[in-house]
Amino acid sequence: MSVPNEPTFRQSVDLMFNRAVALMDLPPGLEQKIRVCNATYTVRFGVRLRGQIQTFTGYRSVHSEHMEPVKGGIRYAISVNQDEVEALAALMTYKCALVEAPFGGSKGGLCINPREYEPHELELITRRFAYELAKRDLINPSQNVPAPDMGTGEREMAWIADQYARMNTTDINARACVTGKPLNAGGISGRVEATGRGVQYALQEFFRYEEDKKKAGLEGKLDGKRIIVQGLGNVGYHAAKFLSEEDGAIITGVIEHDGGLFNESGLDVDAVRTWIVNHGGVKGYPNATFVTEGAKLLEQECDVLIPAALEGVINLTNADRVKAPLIIEAANGPITAGADEILRKKGCVIIPDMYANAGGVTVSYFEWVKNLSHIRFGRMQRRQEEARHQLVIDELERLDRYLGDAWSMTPEFKTKYLRGADELELVRSGLDDTMRIAYQSMREVWHARDDIEDLRTAAYLVSINKVAASYQAKGL
Ligand code: NAD
Repeated sequence: MSVPNEPTFRQSVDLMFNRAVALMDLPPGLEQKIRVCNATYTVRFGVRLRGQIQTFTGYRSVHSEHMEPVKGGIRYAISVNQDEVEALAALMTYKCALVEAPFGGSKGGLCINPREYEPHELELITRRFAYELAKRDLINPSQNVPAPDMGTGEREMAWIADQYARMNTTDINARACVTGKPLNAGGISGRVEATGRGVQYALQEFFRYEEDKKKAGLEGKLDGKRIIVQGLGNVGYHAAKFLSEEDGAIITGVIEHDGGLFNESGLDVDAVRTWIVNHGGVKGYPNATFVTEGAKLLEQECDVLIPAALEGVINLTNADRVKAPLIIEAANGPITAGADEILRKKGCVIIPDMYANAGGVTVSYFEWVKNLSHIRFGRMQRRQEEARHQLVIDELERLDRYLGDAWSMTPEFKTKYLRGADELELVRSGLDDTMRIAYQSMREVWHARDDIEDLRTAAYLVSINKVAASYQAKGL
């Protein structure tokens, strides 16, 4: 989404970067080296479909190779362009640094409306795109590892992995060439939900700090907070589902491509999602008020706003009317640089994209490690852990018999305590830990200096420092 009189997405990211580096003391020239995008490859390729050759344009941009492989999703959308791919690649650099995923930043995109193609056609297109990238090492387990993004998912990642394996028949680590694969093709439990789950963990962490809530004029717990979500796709759906089912938040609004739904007493997230799958949009969904111009709901009163669809949706045309005291950027770049300034001045707290949606790349990191180690997490230790827990239970049962009616174990304790952690539990634990530590690193900087007004600037400071340290360690 581009808005007249506003910088492009790429320029917006640069402006936010510049705000942060102005507060830092980097060696001369290093700032420019970190800011620029190292390379962007454009490919145009033909695929024979429906009796004729159709030409597609795709991109793979590498922002920074201070660590390799570089990492970043592949997006399928008609709006994909070089500026957008480069902005997203830059965000990947900062995101990976912030959550300590040992990757440089990259991103890819294909100009296509995936809804216009049959699955077998999408497979032909994806395999050809993957072939073009893999032969230039723009897909490679040790150099460049894509993942899903808007318009792509497990299915596309499985095709990409298979295409790479066909081209590299003796590469024992071939499966690590892409993440976000289905479990049966080398994926990891919990990857599909990971970005939305990360948004939930990020909000839970924010709500642990009185001082931070106070800045947004909020208090109490997530329980009962009114939330509006834009985009009920992979990220938005999982975030809304977990926040409502597990934290007691109320999803009062959902904005989709064909309009918005509003219900002050709360929407049933699964029911809305099923409706979208069956009807192609939210229109006609019962038990809610339908708003034709869905984006108007971004301006509705709520406690937390979660833009989880497109970039640039909160911009100079609507920022002054946005009432949410807390916005968590589940999408990449949903707030333009200009809107960011307006919101900041109003006292709105923004949990920035590079942190908020880092759950995806975090679990992708776990998947990549799993692929390289060729073993599922928990396989070696789970039963051993259970056996050791059994020892404690045996002792407690002995005590139970000894004390008679005076004391007994609560029934759920035994089953819960005895169960060793499986892969999904370990992934969630690793993700929760990552999101907490990254938040703490941001808020420490945020509160330490008076000239750092917001979490975004703090996030940039933390990650730019890490990228700078990597470059310096390389002798640059
Ligand atoms: P997705 O394709 O699964 O979902 C996007 C949703 O937005 C769809 O439901 C779509 O109908 C809806 N949408 C499209 N246009 C809209 C409009 N004008 N108004 C409202 N809704 C609209 O994509 P996703 O993977 O959930 O990605 C969403 C955002 O999250 C993107 O910015 C992406 O870069 C970012 N992100 C995704 C991941 C991931 O793991 N998938 C990781 C990090 C960041």
